[in-house]
Amino acid sequence: MTLAAVARDLRAAGIEFRFDEPLAAHTTFRVGGSADGYCEPGSVSALIDVVRLCQRGAVPFFVLGAGSNVLFSDEGRRGMVISMRAIRGITASSTGLDAAAGEPLPNVIAAAEEQGSRSLGFLAGIPGTVGGSAATNAGIPGRAMADVIESVTVIGDADQAVQLAPSECGFGYRTSRIRDRRFVVLSAKLRFDEQVYDPAALLTRRRATQPIGQASAGCIFRNPPGESAGALIDRAELKGFTLGQAQVSEKHANFIVNLGGASSAEICKLIDIVRQKVYNTYQVSLDLEVEVVTG
Ligand SMILES: Cc1cc2nc3c(=O)[nH]c(=O)nc-3n(C[C@H](O)[C@H](O)[C@H](O)COP(=O)(O)OP(=O)(O)OC[C@H]3O[C@@H](n4cnc5c(N)ncnc54)[C@H](O)[C@@H]3O)c2cc1C
Repeated sequence: MTLAAVARDLRAAGIEFRFDEPLAAHTTFRVGGSADGYCEPGSVSALIDVVRLCQRGAVPFFVLGAGSNVLFSDEGRRGMVISMRAIRGITASSTGLDAAAGEPLPNVIAAAEEQGSRSLGFLAGIPGTVGGSAATNAGIPGRAMADVIESVTVIGDADQAVQLAPSECGFGYRTSRIRDRRFVVLSAKLRFDEQVYDPAALLTRRRATQPIGQASAGCIFRNPPGESAGALIDRAELKGFTLGQAQVSEKHANFIVNLGGASSAEICKLIDIVRQKVYNTYQVSLDLEVEVVTG
C-alpha cells in the first residue's frame, strides 16, 4: 500500500490528512522541510486506525507532540507524521491524574493544582505534551516524569493498547524504552506526592536564564556526568557564536536559537562546531539531547 492509498482510507474514515505539510510550523525550532503525509487524529480510536493503516501499508510514521525536542532536516520526513495535538483529556482525583498524550504540560500542572497538589509544578516551562514528555522523560535536575508516572498506556509492537508499569518503560536521563522502541503513548497516569514546586517561581527563573520567546528546542546537549554542558560551552567562549541565522544563545550556552529563517543544516553545522570546540578544549564529548530527525 502506498501513502496515497493510506490517505484515501484515512479520508474515508473522516480523519484529516494533508500531503506535503511544512514541519517548521509544528516545531518550536521553526525549522524543517515537509512531511510527505501529515494527520491529526482527533480520538484514540482514530489514532489506532492511523497506526494500523500505516503498519499494514508499510508506511513509516513519526509521532509528534508539541515538537519541542526535535530538529527536522531541511529535506523533511518521508512517510507519515502523526500529530498528537488533538488527543486530549484529563481525569483528575485527589491522588493523581490520567492525561491524554496530546495534553500540553501547563494543563496538567493546572489540573493537579485544582486538586490541591503542586507536586507536578516542576514541569512548569517545559513546552511539551504528556506523550512527548513521557517518551523523553522530561524534567529538571532532581525530578523527572519517571518520578511521577504510575503507568503509561501505549500502542506497542502489536497494534493494541497496553499499559506499561514504570519498570517496563526503561526510563533514563532524557530517554526511555518508549522512545527507543517507538511506542506510541496514548495516555499517562501521574501520581501526586508531597513535593511542592512553585510554577511561577520556576517560570521567573527560566525567563531570567533561558532565551524564552526565541525559537529553540531547549537544551541541545545532555549534561555529561558531573558537568554542565552549558558551562562547558560558555567556558569554550561560544556564547553568542552565530552561523547564518543559528546562534548559540547569548543567555544560555546550551540553547541554540533560530534568529529567523535558520536552516536545519545551519543548526547541525553549529552543533558540530560546538561539539568539536568543547572536545578540543576539555576532551569531553557532548551527546545530543535534542532529536535530529532525518529521512
Ligand atoms: C524553551 C524550552 C525549554 C525546555 N526545557 C526543558 C526542560 O527543562 N526539561 C526537559 O526535559 N525538556 C525541556 N525542553 C525540551 C522539550 O520541551 C521536552 O523534551 C518535551 O517533553 C518534549 O515534548 P514534545 O511533546 O514537544 O515532544 P516532541 O518534541 O514532539 O517529540 C519528542 C520525542 O518524543 C516522541 N513523542 C512525542 N509524542 C509522543 C507520543 N505520544 N508517543 C510516543 N512518542 C512521542 C517523538 O517521536 C520524539 O521522539 C525544553 C524545550 C524548549 C523549547
